[in-house]
Amino acid sequence: MLIKNYTIELSRPGCNASFQSLNCIGHLDVDISEAIPLINAVLGGASITKSPPSVTFKVHGRLITVYSDKISINALSDADEAKKVLEWVKNEINDAWEKRQEITPEYEVPQKPELMKILKLLPKTNCRECGQPTCLVFSTLVTQGVKGAEDCPGLAGENKQLLVSYLSQFQFSDFS
Ligand code: SF4
Repeated sequence: MLIKNYTIELSRPGCNASFQSLNCIGHLDVDISEAIPLINAVLGGASITKSPPSVTFKVHGRLITVYSDKISINALSDADEAKKVLEWVKNEINDAWEKRQEITPEYEVPQKPELMKILKLLPKTNCRECGQPTCLVFSTLVTQGVKGAEDCPGLAGENKQLLVSYLSQFQFSDFS
């Protein structure tokens, strides 16, 4: 196990004191620089830097950045959610580290799905049955891995199969 312990620091964004969103930093007990290209390979980062080493993931509308000595997460609702997301990241890092002999370190950002390719396959009726205001908004969530082909009730037949097939070539970060 690479990360055994961390301490949690919570803060509210300073720009708006009434903003009901928490930021969180998990200060790690160990340097995890070598694990950063490994979790990028496993989870598919949105951006990565070599020096100083860090990788950022977009997960469910929030940014998670892993540095050599800390994990930063924004847009959290409360302390319980901060702990849940931090535990998920910690476990992903520890799993990648355990499997480091099998994983090729990745220093590039993996390709992401294209918004317009997704939108072209949707019914484009803006019916809102998926809970989103428009098919375009839904497509944006699909590019982030938050929604999938199964979440559009109006999508069926060949277009649904094409979307499932198209999305299967990409990596998405997620936690439950
Ligand atoms: S359910 Fe499908 S067709 Fe309707 S708004 Fe959502 S993405 Fe568009």
